[in-house]
Amino acid sequence: MDKPQREPLVEVRNLKTQFFLDEGTVHAVDGADFTLYRGETLGVVGESGCGKSVTARSILRIVPRPGRITQGEILYHRRSRRNGGDVTEVIDLTTLDERGPEIRSIRGAEISMVFQEPMTSLSPVHTLGSQIMEAILLHQEVSNEEAKELSVEMLQRVGMPQPRRTVDRYPHELSGGMRQRGMIAMALSCQPSLLIADEPTTALDVTTEAQILQLMRGLQSDLGMAIMFITHNLGVIAQMTEHVIVMYLGKVVEEASVDNIFYNPKHPYTEALLRSIPRVGRKSRERLESIKGTVPDPYNIPPGCPYHPRCNYFMPGRCDVIEPPLFDVGTEHRTRCLLYGDPESLKTTE
Ligand code: SF4
Repeated sequence: MDKPQREPLVEVRNLKTQFFLDEGTVHAVDGADFTLYRGETLGVVGESGCGKSVTARSILRIVPRPGRITQGEILYHRRSRRNGGDVTEVIDLTTLDERGPEIRSIRGAEISMVFQEPMTSLSPVHTLGSQIMEAILLHQEVSNEEAKELSVEMLQRVGMPQPRRTVDRYPHELSGGMRQRGMIAMALSCQPSLLIADEPTTALDVTTEAQILQLMRGLQSDLGMAIMFITHNLGVIAQMTEHVIVMYLGKVVEEASVDNIFYNPKHPYTEALLRSIPRVGRKSRERLESIKGTVPDPYNIPPGCPYHPRCNYFMPGRCDVIEPPLFDVGTEHRTRCLLYGDPESLKTTE
């Protein structure tokens, strides 16, 4: 049977987001290139400071000052019903005024986000219900009563215990898991086509984490939305995602199906990440390796391949001089490493 056609939802093209600080310029996202497809889950993995969260915030146009997008495109394929049929228009989100009505009609309604720590995004002085209602009333033409009823329904859907009572409770009256369910209810209240989940389970215990991950998988198949799942946890990537991008110092260094990332990794950094996690089948005496060295100073990115000071395959005179482009290394599999090609002979992928 033919594989169903994948339909792009958000295409990120050569995205650069920089922070202009007194100490220098931080290239938080440095030419990121990837595509999110409708209905699929894309995992974004990498160590802290690799640009995962800034990429997500760039898509939503909520990059905090003194950061800003300096280059590239974020092409959002917006689908709407018009004249009885589906119409798709392509909007470059980088061109919108970040406080203007157009991005506000997309943010929270068509693309929404859940964060690691719900307390930072839930208001402590408003009930959970009033916050979900606010999100609904902002984007849908319904009465207060209907918005409240929809809030209760959403809380029910995310498995909140006693949703009719919880809707009137304040965030500090809820457990961490309940707050995260509340945050997810709020994010999904307008049925977005893309949910960006930034380390949504990192602050939770293992049992609650498993419940939230299961919940997100269930909601995704019910609602047909795409998820961009940001995490440093490869176990979560294996459970949750179909395709993965690995980021290092603001660049996508590998992009592949989840199977290829785990069983056929190409980039030395992906290999090192995999060697640093416990895996089923690994002999119990085998030691886990930590990744050599540390992430370089963001004001002082190494020349050539930025991973070269930590790489086991470092080729002097090449890796510290030439900046590798993304090479195709298989079906829907690309990697940014000079072991897989010569930039001189490559005029295709970039
Ligand atoms: Fe390692 Fe060189 Fe490949 Fe960079 S380009 S990952 S330094 S082998």
